[in-house]
Amino acid sequence: MPAESLFSVRNLTVEYNTRAGVVKAADDVSFDIRREEILGLVGESGCGKSTLGKALMRLHRTPARIAGGELIFDGRDLMQLSEEGMCAVRGAEIGMVFQDPMTSLNPVQRIVEHLVETIQTHEPGTTKEAASVRAAEIAEKLGIRSERLKEYPHQMSGGMRQRVMISLALALRAKLVIADEPTTSLDVIVEAKFLDLLRELRQEFGLTILLITHNIGVVAEVADRVAVMYAARIVEIGDVRDIFASPKHPYTQGLLRSVPNIQLDDASLYKMEGMPPNLLYPPVGCRFHTRCPFAMDICRDKSPEFESVNGDHFAACWLYHPTAVKAETKNG
Ligand code: SF4
Repeated sequence: MPAESLFSVRNLTVEYNTRAGVVKAADDVSFDIRREEILGLVGESGCGKSTLGKALMRLHRTPARIAGGELIFDGRDLMQLSEEGMCAVRGAEIGMVFQDPMTSLNPVQRIVEHLVETIQTHEPGTTKEAASVRAAEIAEKLGIRSERLKEYPHQMSGGMRQRVMISLALALRAKLVIADEPTTSLDVIVEAKFLDLLRELRQEFGLTILLITHNIGVVAEVADRVAVMYAARIVEIGDVRDIFASPKHPYTQGLLRSVPNIQLDDASLYKMEGMPPNLLYPPVGCRFHTRCPFAMDICRDKSPEFESVNGDHFAACWLYHPTAVKAETKNG
């Protein structure tokens, strides 16, 4: 039986009003983040994954707006909360780690001050002393030695700053951390340590993590499940081992074939034909049909619904709708 959902996203649409017209960066997106899982959200740059991550915390800013959908987090629809109500959720219940934590940390504040201030803002009854003790305990668990808490953000490495961001979420006992490209600016050794840390935190604190990345290797390393996004929609979702062993959506197949593999003699890389569509004018039908080697007539007319392709593994592709394939074979 699938684990209980912590966050149910239903029919979420996020639009950008541009001079050229309306761009839907997330278009009718539905998925669940299950309790205590690490869910990887992957896709090419510009597919809408970062917009989606920000929208889950309602952190999008003009000209973006949520045009519709539900964000059911731990039993409440976040869309129904006031901005004040959302401020209480951000940080305390849902933490966010960005690619460059310098943009989130105050450069003239020491790390300990960030932690103490965050705790006291969300828990006004906590004394400065108690907040300092908690800050030191959390930092130690994350491998930040107490003397380093006196440092300013610029004195720390990228990996240490990522740890600080997570410690801010843990200090408030957040249930969910949304990490947007957290390893992009890290070297491979620091990246490996950071991924180990995510696994440990899930284990020790029962943390749920949404890991947004363009790096398939990172997802393979650490995620339990993976959702693949293409042109503002999720096209495949399932257990990470299942999807890596047997990807169903032709886009996911292309994405996995594009990853370098040193075990193969052939050093040439697979290159997917074509480019992602302009989201101002997304193609009718399946959005991948202009690049898909298996496209059928129905793909150019109708958008495919999600279909189970193997238990808990779903893909939005007409190839897995038996009636569609039968009709194509008959017509062809
Ligand atoms: Fe290709 Fe059609 Fe499947 Fe889209 S629905 S991925 S075009 S086969």
